Amino acid sequence: MLLILDKDGTLVTPKSGKKFVQYPQDQMLLPGVEEGLLKTLDFGIEMVIASNQGGIAMGYKTEAQAIEEMIFCMNLCPSTFRFALFCPDMDGDQCILVTPTGSFEPIGKGTKDASLMLDELGVNPDDVPSFYRKPEPGMLYAAMLKIGATPEECLFVGDREEDEQAAEAAGIEFQAASYWREHAAHTCL
Ligand SMILES: [Mg+2]
Repeated sequence: MLLILDKDGTLVTPKSGKKFVQYPQDQMLLPGVEEGLLKTLDFGIEMVIASNQGGIAMGYKTEAQAIEEMIFCMNLCPSTFRFALFCPDMDGDQCILVTPTGSFEPIGKGTKDASLMLDELGVNPDDVPSFYRKPEPGMLYAAMLKIGATPEECLFVGDREEDEQAAEAAGIEFQAASYWREHAAHTCL
């Protein structure tokens, strides 16, 4: 099984009280998250993060800072996450995979890689025009391919409509972040 989680507003909130994360360390886990992640870990369920990082394209942060931000977030609850994926552009062209120990790699760049991935999944490219950026399902597809999970084996948890739409597009069950934070510590998925 695979649990995919959005980051901002789902797992963490800015420590500074600002609307957006100001720097990589400006993140704290929301109540219920740590307990939920540890419970999920107990069940041997894989966990990954899928995060839009449009702030890079808008000039609020660099790609290197976003990578640090992912690493810091994953290490707020050590040994839980396999990796984080983020989309740094507004067109959904790219996706970067970051591990908790700090290695990172672009796992898709441009339409060529996206087409190969869609081929493997048997998805019509016309159905996902911008691919990686949520509400498009590209990051969820990438997470499933990397872990080797089918949509039926996944749950995606997020706090925004774009998360729910991405889950629906990928054929994955969706759960609202507020509900997950309240219940994950007490139940299996
Ligand atoms: Mg969010």
